[in-house]
Amino acid sequence: MNTALGNPGTLYLVSTPIGNLEDITLRALRVLKEVNLIAAEDTRKTGILLKNYSISNQLTSYHDFNKEKKAYTLLQSLKSGNSIALVSDAGTPGISDPAFLMVKLAIQEGIRVESIPGPTAFVSALIISGLPTDKFIFEGFLSPKSGKRKKRILELSEEKRTLIFYESPHRFLETLEDLLSILGDRKASVARELTKKFEEVKRGKLSEIKEYFEAAKIRGEFVLIVEGKREDGKT
Ligand code: SAM
Repeated sequence: MNTALGNPGTLYLVSTPIGNLEDITLRALRVLKEVNLIAAEDTRKTGILLKNYSISNQLTSYHDFNKEKKAYTLLQSLKSGNSIALVSDAGTPGISDPAFLMVKLAIQEGIRVESIPGPTAFVSALIISGLPTDKFIFEGFLSPKSGKRKKRILELSEEKRTLIFYESPHRFLETLEDLLSILGDRKASVARELTKKFEEVKRGKLSEIKEYFEAAKIRGEFVLIVEGKREDGKT
């Protein structure tokens, strides 16, 4: 995938599995094999994926704590003709991860950016939620600060589209509590550990889901889907 001398290389945003290593496209595997460099959010995790598919290629880190400095180095490499695959620790790069900065800078520098599509946790969680999928908003992570989080949920309380949130395991119950107290007892769905051994989907009212997860031992990764405000005002 080397480009002719003098031409910049391409930045590929390669989607990788969100759990099950089989969830990767043939094209993604080919690109990961052929690029000059793979910039990974978590080199250890990406290393496991590459090993599973017998791909040996150069890996470097690109994550939240080095992204400003590293983006500059990666841009120089692209400009000198190298092709780079950018991968997140799971799923689609650019969705709640540091890829955005690299994409923005590459576009500013006139570098070709290509998407190699694949899994993203919120799409899988939404389509199995049983809540309306025709119109939705992806909110990503709410603030870890209680006041800010509550304020944002209040701002979203009139939203009619289905609401989608990412949440870390240790804040999950707090967020459920805030959603319930601010939005009321709406229909919701929680997808846990999608595509993994302990995959689980809990659907019901927010109060039922909260009760269930309070009693269960909480572990793993979660996507929270909440019904938008209903026209008839009912929950
Ligand atoms: N780029 C990723 C994507 O395309 O979905 C998202 C990265 S974000 C840093 C990580 C969050 O995604 C987790 O906190 C969780 O909310 C969600 N997530 C990722 N993998 C998941 C899985 N297998 N099951 C449920 N949620 C998952």
